[in-house]
Amino acid sequence: MVIFFTYKTLRYIIIRVILMYFNENNYDYDKMVSDIEKLSVFGDIKVKIIGKSVLSKNIYCLKIGHGKKNICYIGTHHSLEWISASLLMKFSYCILNSANSKTRYLSYSISELLQEVTFHIMPMLNPDGIDIINNKIVDHTLYEKLIEWNKGDDFSFKWQANANGVDLNHNYDAGFEKAKALEQKYGVKGPSNTRYGGPYPESEPEVKSLCDYIRQTPLSLLITYHSQGEVIYYDYNSKVPKNSKELGKILSRKTGYTLDNVEGIASFGGCKDWFIDKFNKPAYTVELGKGKNPLNFSQFDKIFNDNIESMILLPFIC
Ligand SMILES: [Zn+2]
Repeated sequence: MVIFFTYKTLRYIIIRVILMYFNENNYDYDKMVSDIEKLSVFGDIKVKIIGKSVLSKNIYCLKIGHGKKNICYIGTHHSLEWISASLLMKFSYCILNSANSKTRYLSYSISELLQEVTFHIMPMLNPDGIDIINNKIVDHTLYEKLIEWNKGDDFSFKWQANANGVDLNHNYDAGFEKAKALEQKYGVKGPSNTRYGGPYPESEPEVKSLCDYIRQTPLSLLITYHSQGEVIYYDYNSKVPKNSKELGKILSRKTGYTLDNVEGIASFGGCKDWFIDKFNKPAYTVELGKGKNPLNFSQFDKIFNDNIESMILLPFIC
């Protein structure tokens, strides 16, 4: 029997076989959905779908706890930074398990924490981007466009944007015109694997869904997790909300990461920037781990151990 493959199908099969060996640790949308189902057995969690991605995947929010103080943790604006989704999923499991078994975690009473605090955890804001780096959308009508926007390079080491070629962390309404001017300076002319902020603020469904949700949820603290650099950013355009630097110093001490100011093209249009500008409350960008994205999963235990205490402590004291 002779089987004929089209070039496209053959390319897909080869890529899938290679990725099975090199990317087996990648945390992707399907694994997250399966893990969210497992977490649903706990009583303190409500799973919400706050919107859809460009390719119609769900943007999940895990609402954990029932306190008056609302805390938001966001992962994976950028697809090569999927390790942030792993961190938020493991964090969710740890606090749910600890509250359920009424045991302390790192000496903290999680039951007490969940009386005071409600967490709003979005582990994966850019699920399409992760499918793109895993070459899961080769049959989609957008595929040829994505190859063009990625200049024919390998997606698995380059693609940070969503399926419209928009960098989600440049799509927020915070100095958007200044961000656009910086794009020109950096040679970004349109949809791309990174740094293109889109045609207007909140043009992307992922960002619009998140902003709509936050506008309806008065938050005391927002942390958006990225990789890499072991650095924490806490201000926007010289604006520093009350207690923000003090809390940032505690975050820095607990994680061992450096507290710093942002410069260059990343200074405007980001999630932290928008939140500080609109709500004047503490918000941080935390850059997990060190190395070249995507970070090797062998870093995960260190990343988790460096960050877990701050993720519990800051909601208590903010
Ligand atoms: Zn990032």
